[in-house]
Amino acid sequence: MIDAHCHVDFKEFNKTRDEVMERAQNKLKAIINSGASLGGNRRTLKMAQDYPNFLYPALGFHPHYAPKADRTIIEEALTEIRSNLHLAVALGETGLDFHTLKSQEAQKKQEKLFRSFLGMASEQEMPLIVHARDAEKKALEMSKEYKGIPKIIFHCYGGDLETAQLIMDEGHLISLSTLICFSPHHQELARELPLSHLLTETDSPYLSPFKGQRNEPSFVEETVKTIANLKSMDVQEVADITEENACRVFGIKN
Ligand SMILES: [Zn+2]
Repeated sequence: MIDAHCHVDFKEFNKTRDEVMERAQNKLKAIINSGASLGGNRRTLKMAQDYPNFLYPALGFHPHYAPKADRTIIEEALTEIRSNLHLAVALGETGLDFHTLKSQEAQKKQEKLFRSFLGMASEQEMPLIVHARDAEKKALEMSKEYKGIPKIIFHCYGGDLETAQLIMDEGHLISLSTLICFSPHHQELARELPLSHLLTETDSPYLSPFKGQRNEPSFVEETVKTIANLKSMDVQEVADITEENACRVFGIKN
């Protein structure tokens, strides 16, 4: 199993990071840690050194931070990302969150930053991890203006089935999170979407499958088990196929 999207660099793990990583290593083949800020990218790269061939870095800037961040900080983050591309397996997370940020001004700032990442992914032919909320279709439409992006991963996908189909028609991937353990809408997605286009993730420290607990990468097992249950499939088969999908898109040796 692979946790295709998590944030073990976040402060929520400061007291328990070693144990969390040990549990992840005992259970999983790999995790993709997504940088969400300038500091987050730095921490992610450091952790990739500490956990070689296990923690793989993606470098990005979260759409939640885009409207508030100082332009010079964003520029610095983009410059650092460019100089560390050879160390990353993907770009992101990046994207559009029109659920959380509703003002036009904030949304314009998100779009501008998203375009910087789309441009870089296209130029460098790197996979892109996208956070899209109430903006899934818009993110997909914008991405079509950029050629050469090998794959887009719609992380923690929660949009409708029709848009998911359009995403898969473009050859992109849908990543299902631990939300499927308790959300009926996400469970329907898991039931309907073909395993060939699915990844599994936790988005930890968020979205714990266990009430009142902080999430962690090893809990991606719950996502895999729930998919197997919803599709009436063998857990091992779901684990194998989603792991292979993740290895292929992120270039991890199987
Ligand atoms: Zn995230």
